[in-house]
Amino acid sequence: MGKVAIDFKTGSIKSKDAPVMGIDLGTSNSLIAYVKDGVPHVIKDNHSQKVLVPSVIYINQQSELLIGEEAKAMLEQEPDASIYSVKRLIGKSFQEIQSEKLLSNHQTKLDLNNQIVKLKIGHQYFTAIELSSFILKRLKKTAEEHLGTSIEKAVITVPAYFNDEQRQATRDAGKLAGLDVLRIVNEPTAAALAYGIGLDKDKTQNIAVYDLGGGTFDISILRIENGIFDVLSTNGNTQLGGDDIDESIVEFLQSKFDSTQYSSVPITKSIAEKLKSELSQLEIATTAVGNLQLSLSLKELNEIAEPLIQQTIQCCKNAVKDSGLSLQEIDEVILVGGSTRLQLVKQKVSEYFKKKPNDNLNPDEAVAIGAAIQADILAGNRKDFLLLDITPLSLGIETMGGLMDVIIPRNSKIPVQLARQYTTSKDGQQSLRITVYQGERDLVSFNRKLAEFVLKNIPAFPAGIAKIEVQFLIDADGILRVKAKELRSGQESSIEIKSQFALDQNTVAKMLSESIQFAQSDAQTKAWVDAVNEAQYMIAHSNKFIEQNNTLLSTEELSVLQNFIEQLNQGIQSQNKEQLQHVIDQMNQSTQSIAHRIMDINIGKSLEGTTIDLS
Ligand code: ADP
Ligand code: MG
Repeated sequence: MGKVAIDFKTGSIKSKDAPVMGIDLGTSNSLIAYVKDGVPHVIKDNHSQKVLVPSVIYINQQSELLIGEEAKAMLEQEPDASIYSVKRLIGKSFQEIQSEKLLSNHQTKLDLNNQIVKLKIGHQYFTAIELSSFILKRLKKTAEEHLGTSIEKAVITVPAYFNDEQRQATRDAGKLAGLDVLRIVNEPTAAALAYGIGLDKDKTQNIAVYDLGGGTFDISILRIENGIFDVLSTNGNTQLGGDDIDESIVEFLQSKFDSTQYSSVPITKSIAEKLKSELSQLEIATTAVGNLQLSLSLKELNEIAEPLIQQTIQCCKNAVKDSGLSLQEIDEVILVGGSTRLQLVKQKVSEYFKKKPNDNLNPDEAVAIGAAIQADILAGNRKDFLLLDITPLSLGIETMGGLMDVIIPRNSKIPVQLARQYTTSKDGQQSLRITVYQGERDLVSFNRKLAEFVLKNIPAFPAGIAKIEVQFLIDADGILRVKAKELRSGQESSIEIKSQFALDQNTVAKMLSESIQFAQSDAQTKAWVDAVNEAQYMIAHSNKFIEQNNTLLSTEELSVLQNFIEQLNQGIQSQNKEQLQHVIDQMNQSTQSIAHRIMDINIGKSLEGTTIDLS
């Protein structure tokens, strides 16, 4: 028995040994788990006696709040008092969620101060963070009742493609629910942990995590080496899941009856879901609606699900390709998410990966169990682990001419800290704007702008003297901090990136494929911008050189230089890379002797003036 303390505010007993909880905050279902003496346990909800708490919230006009199974039951009767799939909204801007189907039953408004979207449920408006916190609060309460102690700390899982804003919003929801969120962990990493993969430190393994839930599909390829988890690639579809199958079943059953006298029978999605779920054990499922007997055969279900599952296999192909591994190099395939109970999923997945997938664990529980194992590690109960993830897209800043200068390359392991040095381009320049972008294109205009800030009060140095270090730090939660520091003066400024616009993994995939598609034209544009930058630098430099050394230059030398400056200007006007590059090269060659002669004179002069102090 550990130490106990009394919380005088609530009168409850606090155990210093209260476990850190693992929470799978899912789009369709959420659940909470913990590890005791090395063994993971999932907790059953007190009301429903089920482990899975549907991620549904019901709030009526009287502000009565229902969560989970009871709220789900109200979804079809009182759609404007209930809300589902809040995870699709969290950490996103108004523009991004506008097309979400789930909003059709709710009025939305924008909180003007901070641009946060609020939805009307019952007679009140709520943010997605608040709504998620209701689910988390419910899970926390369930765990507290089950364990007889107050719970404070938790680990929450999110999809691997969640961006900073979505991770931060999830963390905020935890805070609002009274939880200290120790870590945000990627779902596939948690699933792998649940399967105990990585426990044997001498073993290097590549695994695929296939996660088909209610409304989303994610495939992740991980490499586990020396107990380190590394996400090699991710792919998927945020609009594909078990719900789509349910909808297709409804349509199918309706069309079956349309031509008969039963066309008015209301076939709901929950009826479809029930029939579908039974077919993971049976060849034919039946249920009664009113006085109508409905039936669905496995063969019919397979025909309905086939195109959808085929899409997931295409995503798997893309993920494997991106991971740089061959199919043979993937040692194990793990199935996660309720929809992987479909027999056809197991069949298609094993056909594609050419091996039987591992489905030993309950697919609904694997992520929460993994989160609990991670929580146990963070509680200090296992010191043999380290968890790493990767950045899905490159991060960098805009440099002269609108070019992208990458500081953290795509697929870098996080946490990561990298820095590069820059300088000012104008004499006496006292401020520098740092604009942060995400993406793979050479030109920032095609990438995604995350934030910008200005480093001020740089001492008035000549161009090129200031030493400005720009440092990017991504912490273990995937939050990006950018710092700019002028090293000679110590002047610094920084920003924590709360990106305005979330990126789903379809966008990531699109950005990656565009970067390949446009690689050649981007490279040409980049080469042109580089040449213009160089030419402009040479013009500025030569003008300064002429000004400083006008008494030393012969008329002939002066006209050579002025002629080249003129040619550079013409080259820039011409928009012709070859022409401009030719002038640059010629000028570099032909003016060397002039530069050397003047330099020798200047060195001589400076030596003349030198006296040696002997005292
Ligand atoms: P999420 O991670 O998105 O919250 P879950 O992993 O909880 O989702 O999966 C929920 C989905 O799993 C639902 O669409 C549900 O219908 C489906 N599902 C649950 N059990 C079965 C089953 N036996 N056969 C087919 N689909 C199932
Ligand atoms: Mg899930």
